[in-house]
Amino acid sequence: MSADTDVRNVIVIGSGPAGYTAALYAARAQLRPLLFGSSIFVGGSLTTTTEVENFPGFPEGVDGPVLMENMRAQAEKFGAEMIDDDIISVSLTGDIKEVTDSEGTVHRARAVIVATGSSYRKLGLPNEDALSGRGVSWCATCDGFFFRDRDIVVVGGGDTAMEEATFLTRFAKSVTVVHRRSTLRASQVMQNRAFADDKISFAFDSEIAEIKEEGGMLSGLTLRDVITGRTRDLDATGLFIAIGHDPRSELFKGQLELDDEGYLKVEAPSTRTNIPGVFAAGDVVDHTYRQAITAAGSGCTAALDTERYLSTLN
Ligand code: FAD
Repeated sequence: MSADTDVRNVIVIGSGPAGYTAALYAARAQLRPLLFGSSIFVGGSLTTTTEVENFPGFPEGVDGPVLMENMRAQAEKFGAEMIDDDIISVSLTGDIKEVTDSEGTVHRARAVIVATGSSYRKLGLPNEDALSGRGVSWCATCDGFFFRDRDIVVVGGGDTAMEEATFLTRFAKSVTVVHRRSTLRASQVMQNRAFADDKISFAFDSEIAEIKEEGGMLSGLTLRDVITGRTRDLDATGLFIAIGHDPRSELFKGQLELDDEGYLKVEAPSTRTNIPGVFAAGDVVDHTYRQAITAAGSGCTAALDTERYLSTLN
């Protein structure tokens, strides 16, 4: 193990919209931030999608990876330093925080901003990743608009799945909710709303057996009845997977307070965690909105909170 003897003002962990925005604001405030952005997933969730139409400032839409490269370049322009590596352990409780990279080097700072995001749970089927943004989606708010007059399947039985299904009826010709059990987990009010919608039908005790592809796009689905094992084809060209999210908070367990679902707790509307000098932003905190713009907004808040915290130390 080696140590970077320099004690930074702030280290940012995570290279999505929250992390890059925090780095941009911290850099412009002359805080010389150092950002760790992962070894294999630089740029975060938006690098896995194609067109982003709801990030303000891009009337023609913008390619997800391009948007993230631009955010990074903008932060670097003002002096943010980026290391494409994973932080594998943290020690956050002291006045000087320590984070260790995958080569064992310890980096130290007076403040840390956690912006590690969350991952969408997947079905684990072939074609699922390859067709992301090409008929397969995890976010109706993000992608619903692309599915006008299409037959869509939503997988899941909780509140999110019902909310996505109901929202998608604004665009879709039909929405089929596919759920592995015979009853939904969603709250009664969400169920009632979905049951009352003429465009929504239900395939209970069912799971997706196959995601079909033609010409690089989702072309149909095969459903399997989990009781009889029988399969049937469904003419759908959209698949929304709404089976939950996993916040990337494992690293902070035992130091930062987590809620029952593993999201980091902050003193909202600030980004302060339970440890002075440690702030958290983006989807690792956010149960509800999970958008690039909300992540970027909270990254900005985290940098401003950090700036104020550091000024109290001097
Ligand atoms: P993320 O973007 O998830 O970034 C977190 C980063 O931190 C990742 O790169 C991760 O690898 C890194 N990291 C995690 N742990 C560590 C560690 N220990 N060390 C170093 N790095 C680490 N939103 C929209 O507004 N519009 C859209 O059109 C849209 N489309 C989407 C399409 C897809 C396919 C997906 C998956 C999401 C989409 N979203 C969209 C949602 C949006 O991408 C997220 O809300 C947003 O990216 C969250 O930003 P974040 O910075 O919190 O986290």
